[in-house]
Amino acid sequence: MTMETTSIDTLIVGAGQAGVAMSEHLSKLGVPHLVLERHRIAEAWRTARWDSLVANGPAWHDRFPNLEFDDVDPDGFASKEQVADYFVAYATKFDAPIRTGVEVKKVVRNAGRQGFTIETSDGAIEANRVVVATGPFQRPVIPPIAPAAGKLTQIHSADYRNPEQLPAGAVLVVGAGSSGVQIADELQRAGKQVYLSVGPHDRPPRAYRGRDFCWWLGVLGEWDAEVMRPGKEHVTIAVSGARGGHTVDFRRLAHQGISLVGLTKSFDDGVVTFEQDLAENIARGDENYLSLLNAADAYVARNGLDLPEEPGARDIPPDPACLIDPVLDLDLAKAGVTSIIWATGYAVDFSWLDVDAFDEKGKPKHQRGVSKEPGIYFLGLPWLSRRGSAFIWGVWHDARHIADHIVTQRKYLAYRDPSQRHADGHREEVPGSAFPDSRVHKVSEMGVS
Ligand SMILES: Cc1cc2nc3c(=O)[nH]c(=O)nc-3n(C[C@H](O)[C@H](O)[C@H](O)COP(=O)(O)OP(=O)(O)OC[C@H]3O[C@@H](n4cnc5c(N)ncnc54)[C@H](O)[C@@H]3O)c2cc1C
Repeated sequence: MTMETTSIDTLIVGAGQAGVAMSEHLSKLGVPHLVLERHRIAEAWRTARWDSLVANGPAWHDRFPNLEFDDVDPDGFASKEQVADYFVAYATKFDAPIRTGVEVKKVVRNAGRQGFTIETSDGAIEANRVVVATGPFQRPVIPPIAPAAGKLTQIHSADYRNPEQLPAGAVLVVGAGSSGVQIADELQRAGKQVYLSVGPHDRPPRAYRGRDFCWWLGVLGEWDAEVMRPGKEHVTIAVSGARGGHTVDFRRLAHQGISLVGLTKSFDDGVVTFEQDLAENIARGDENYLSLLNAADAYVARNGLDLPEEPGARDIPPDPACLIDPVLDLDLAKAGVTSIIWATGYAVDFSWLDVDAFDEKGKPKHQRGVSKEPGIYFLGLPWLSRRGSAFIWGVWHDARHIADHIVTQRKYLAYRDPSQRHADGHREEVPGSAFPDSRVHKVSEMGVS
């Protein structure tokens, strides 16, 4: 079927939470727009996550302001399917003009006239503006130190589904952010011998004095931090909503049976070498944990809040053997390791975006998502405007800013000086659009497919 829309004021690429939020704000402001999604709404939540994944934040927090989860306790953690269903319901609620199963292949600025020409898997389309909402985590990254393919099974965390997927034998999980730590825990509980390679991390308490860490980060202004603290660029955050939610405590994981090792340095002839940084990484994680308790206590005292004290939260379990005498070299065959899971993060892929919106390293140049290339916007990227930008609740607020910017630009472009107004003869046009109303077809009728 050929797309009926051949031109639109604003094209949104991607219908994850970012694309849905953007569509809601543009709908409210009356900006004609279309969302193109190559798969389904919130596809990443359905098919790019492991089976048992639940949201890292409680349902009262990890949602958009205008809709609650109707099937999840507000203090519970939505499963990945419930999160995906939530965004489908959300898009349906305001009849978002989303077209699924259409991939954007190329975006090129028009020469000598306004707007962009967009090549899609379903024909070409023109738009005055393009909002790139293709996600913060598009391309799984496996570092170059990974050993050559051999007998080992190696997968990225994006391809991990469940313990049954792996061959018999021990597993090395590289990376101990929220993904690595949750996967290692699940594999160990399924009876596997697990080595977990732990780098620098933050590990907030799941809850303290009766409040979830999402609440604490909110009232302490941490979600709104605009820039990453210097030195924190390579620090991941280890949190978990699994099994009702719990604090990630590496010592407890070790006492449970997981072998902790430092950062993975290299592989040579079947032997993996780890940095001698495990104790330091764990100690820094503890510092981060305790600093949040201190900040929370200070907040309670300053504001005279009646929240129950929780001295037990400061009890740190004794150091496990793997921390006192860390393994620095591991012969994978001798240790029975048959698989490696790389929980080493993601990169973005903007190869389809042929516009002048990137710096020399290929990173988007933008201010709060408003790109240096007029008409191009980015949404959903980590730290787009603040710490919360790539998360469910944060992206909605960033989308509102971008929508406001689009409306302002449309107003400027709609301006007519007196002679133009006279020549126009009071002819009505779509404000700020290079395309008259008549060329914007069927968008409102498309609904959610
Ligand atoms: C394991 C994991 C757990 C997470 N847990 C949480 C959590 O609990 N709470 C939280 O707030 N955040 C969480 N996040 C972070 C974030 O909320 C998710 O990554 C979320 O999916 C990002 O939404 P998005 O809309 O920005 O991107 P995505 O969900 O990735 O959506 C982008 C969409 O764009 C589409 N697309 C891409 N390229 C094209 C193209 N060329 N043409 C058409 N369509 C295209 C994709 O198919 C996709 O559907 C988690 C992330 C991961 C990886």
